[in-house]
Amino acid sequence: MSDKPGEGQKLVFAADLGGTYLRVALVDESGKIHHQAKQRTPKGDSPDYVVDALASAAERWRSEDGRRIAAASIMVPGTVDNENAVVVQAPNLPALAGFPLKAVLEERFSWPVLLENDANAAAVGEMWMGAARGCRDVVSVTLGTGVGGGVILDGELWRGAHGSAGEIGHSTVDPFSNLKCKCGNTGCLEMFASATAIVRMTREDLPHFAKSVLHREELTAERVYDAGRGGDELALSVFKRFGVYLGIGLANLINIIDPEIIVIAGGAVNGWDLFARDMQREVAERAVRVTAQQVKIAVAECGDNAGLLGAARLAFDKLAGE
Ligand SMILES: [Zn+2]
Repeated sequence: MSDKPGEGQKLVFAADLGGTYLRVALVDESGKIHHQAKQRTPKGDSPDYVVDALASAAERWRSEDGRRIAAASIMVPGTVDNENAVVVQAPNLPALAGFPLKAVLEERFSWPVLLENDANAAAVGEMWMGAARGCRDVVSVTLGTGVGGGVILDGELWRGAHGSAGEIGHSTVDPFSNLKCKCGNTGCLEMFASATAIVRMTREDLPHFAKSVLHREELTAERVYDAGRGGDELALSVFKRFGVYLGIGLANLINIIDPEIIVIAGGAVNGWDLFARDMQREVAERAVRVTAQQVKIAVAECGDNAGLLGAARLAFDKLAGE
């Protein structure tokens, strides 16, 4: 996309610093994306690689739109500290742990820089431009490699006392499971309701389903989904388990937070037609009845751009408040 922004219109340089891809965009105050680019996230032991990649991505647009860029807003796959200045931990980008990314980038960019957790930014993006438009109490749940979560209360992002609110993926849904999660706990929601979990549960159950078409395939979440659409019993049972565990996790959330809407995002949401019924049944049975009947559970609408949009929105809000 390369629509010309209007004269005098402010823009935010938003970056989605993922474990695999670095995606960047210029976003205006109406939520319109003017430029967008994607590259592989540079790997290395030093955070300099990441800083250089962000700086060169921004440099590309500086000559054309530099005067209109009012801030940079960077989403990271991890926890940022209370001042949103230092990446406390980022399991998929370990070089950034403890790194003062905000200060270093502000020196390079000459724009104010915001850092935000990726799942938090995605929740804001869906409230601004997606499925949760017009809502004030929103939970977003991202079903990808892991399970991420973002919580918005009365229109404000809820980061928690230590910056780790919304870690829905690490809420326990099965205390008897021996499956060790990367967080160190066992029985976490993301061990059952992520794309990774779909593949693992399929592999575990293969011996019990001699006729499954999945014996002949290299397993990916997408292939398991395709098999399920074709009526494969193994795939259907995996998505059923996925839905039951997700429903338990959502019921817990509903009982604690009582949101207007839960937005479900991430790659594994593609399996919605195979897991939604079981998910909704668990919610109906386990959440407080009056809430369960009213809370909306909806598929996200912004796709991969939710985080970029949310990061931009947070920067515009910050600029307006200064
Ligand atoms: Zn965990």
